[in-house]
Amino acid sequence: MKTYFAYLSGNFGRTNESIIPLFLLLTLLMSSLRAEDEKFKVMTTFTVIADIVKNVAGDAARVESITKPDAEIHNYQATPGDLRRARDVDLIIYNGLNLELWADKFFQNLNDVPTVIISHNIKPIGIRQGPYKGKPNPHAWMSPTNVLTYVDNVKVALARYDNRNAGIYELNAGIYRRKLLEKFEEYHLKFNMLPEYRKWLVTSEGAFSYLAAEFGLKEAYLWPMNSDGQGTPRQIQKVIDLVIENKIPAIFSESTISPKPALQVARETGANYGGVLYVDSLSTENGPVPTYIDLVEKTLDTIYEALSEGT
Ligand SMILES: [Zn+2]
Repeated sequence: MKTYFAYLSGNFGRTNESIIPLFLLLTLLMSSLRAEDEKFKVMTTFTVIADIVKNVAGDAARVESITKPDAEIHNYQATPGDLRRARDVDLIIYNGLNLELWADKFFQNLNDVPTVIISHNIKPIGIRQGPYKGKPNPHAWMSPTNVLTYVDNVKVALARYDNRNAGIYELNAGIYRRKLLEKFEEYHLKFNMLPEYRKWLVTSEGAFSYLAAEFGLKEAYLWPMNSDGQGTPRQIQKVIDLVIENKIPAIFSESTISPKPALQVARETGANYGGVLYVDSLSTENGPVPTYIDLVEKTLDTIYEALSEGT
């Protein structure tokens, strides 16, 4: 016991001088925490648009997503915790076009938090079949060209609600825009080179209408939206017939749903199972698609690999 006290008092004696820097360090830490707390706070409905918003916001705003990485986002069940977090932010940005079927109810429970639709000014592609026939396909971010409009909308929204940082948002949006344009130019060249008969994109969810349109691919899918019946025998048979009739080289599945129906089509037609495409959710930081650019690159690489195989 004696030793213990001796050690303690000795220790105090020795560290007296270092208490000042420690105090300074704590003050700095507190003020940086306060600065972080005073930052403009944005919440998005899912990880893909959170990343787009982060690229425009840079360090000037704090951005988080309600749904987590890898999550199913159409029929998400918001929690009381989500609601508490959302009440505390300055702006909510969501996709719209009927993507977040849970959003209206969620927003009704928020007090006065402004909400902005990121897909504003997009030319929607209609859903061709199923219970949502005629409604817009919500997955507009899968076209890199549309995402340039998303970026502009984010810039305008952030500047409007957080005007003191408008210049930063303008600058960041410009940098991100150039990066997107540069990244996807090479894919246009690659897909243009594919033989016409191979330009088919057959997937589980009909989430790729915008991507298919942008890269000149004909599109087919097992079900139109993840919120519907997934992989009924009728849906599967229809795609099997189509794949056989058109000698379609590959079928794909998506990261947030079961690959079984797509695997069955591959088995029964002899088409390649091309693997998993990413669309509705980013992965965690250590996963394969932590950013929007990763998501589109990984998806386009997977499609291109399967469609070009053997050519
Ligand atoms: Zn989806």
